[in-house]
Amino acid sequence: MTLLPSWVESANSTDTDFPLNNLPYGVFSTNSLEPRCGVAIGDMVLDMAALEEDGLISLGDEPVFDVPCWNDVMELGPSRWAALRERLTELLAADAPEQAQVAGHLISMSEVRLHLPFVVSEFTDFYAGRHHATNVGTMFRGAENALPPNWLHMPIGYNGRASTVVVSGTDIRRPNGQIKGPDESPSFGPSQRLDFELELGAVVGTSTEMGQPLTVAEADEMIFGYVLLNDWSARDIQAWEYQPLGPFQAKAFATSISPWIVSRHALEPFRAPTPDRERALLPYLQEPSPMIYNIELSVILQPEGGEQEVIARTNYDQMYYSAAQQLAHHASSGCAMNAGDLLGSGTVSGPEEDARGCLLELSWGGKTPVKLQNGETRSFLEDGDTLILTGHASGDGYRIGFGACAGAVLPALDWP
Ligand code: CA
Repeated sequence: MTLLPSWVESANSTDTDFPLNNLPYGVFSTNSLEPRCGVAIGDMVLDMAALEEDGLISLGDEPVFDVPCWNDVMELGPSRWAALRERLTELLAADAPEQAQVAGHLISMSEVRLHLPFVVSEFTDFYAGRHHATNVGTMFRGAENALPPNWLHMPIGYNGRASTVVVSGTDIRRPNGQIKGPDESPSFGPSQRLDFELELGAVVGTSTEMGQPLTVAEADEMIFGYVLLNDWSARDIQAWEYQPLGPFQAKAFATSISPWIVSRHALEPFRAPTPDRERALLPYLQEPSPMIYNIELSVILQPEGGEQEVIARTNYDQMYYSAAQQLAHHASSGCAMNAGDLLGSGTVSGPEEDARGCLLELSWGGKTPVKLQNGETRSFLEDGDTLILTGHASGDGYRIGFGACAGAVLPALDWP
């Protein structure tokens, strides 16, 4: 696949995240416009509500873009998603006759404020990276029991909180919680082991009825798109609370996502197979075709007042289970899924030491702190640190980017 040329000049640059091939979905506002649906193209945002009002695009009888979320569009289903993408590609292509009319609805990216792109119905977080699960398991339970016995048979996960999913740029308050050292009584106070987790989030676009199972192929069709996701984690709170029911307060305080939903269609040329299966999967989890993607991912740390520095690089193609498999597994018991459900992939780590997707792994539980260029070290995040996730798939002369997923750490609240 090569670059699709657009009359929006900045969309033809080889290093933009948002060429015509991408067309990701976000929600923006300006000093004079209320939050509404927008599409990123080069360094501009296309005002979808204005485009719809102008009669240049219509997905049905009712307007769907003059709202601060993409859920209404999601609920129209995959055939309307394809029609939307086709129409936008026509309107923004180099030879589009509607150029002058559409140009009036473009707003510079520098003038907009970005919001959560969809109403998050529910948030489920998985644990589908084999290198991550092996590394964390080795630290928590020893190398012999690193992978839980169920891990090679199903994508394991837990039900998280939708209420604290926030858009990139939102500050993250260090959580307070119960902490207990090996020879101490529990105490309550600020987490001393605040971490990030590099993940991809899948946005479920259509719903299922309670009791309705899904094939993996059907699940794949239901995915509207993907975002970058930081599953902020308090490791000391987690270590004490997680047995036997898994993470709770250690993860509930915040999850950040990138502001643009990159559609499944835009990622289609970058599909990749999941790794070889060590154990055959049960039929309901077997994937009929490649279901993960070749997406290069980076983690950037910026100390307060300091420079940005890449501390890890990896690729989403390292995952053992795809989002489609996770969604099929989620529905397999009869659990109803909703448009706007968000599924976290699990931390994406590669085999190399600098390809690890969280500080717990990068610093090996604090034993080998990460050295920064300014001379400081990090075992875990400090107040004032900004953590930025970036990602893109690389095509021939273009890339499909996600925009950044960033958050700065604020000090914990004083709490008795
Ligand atoms: Ca996670």
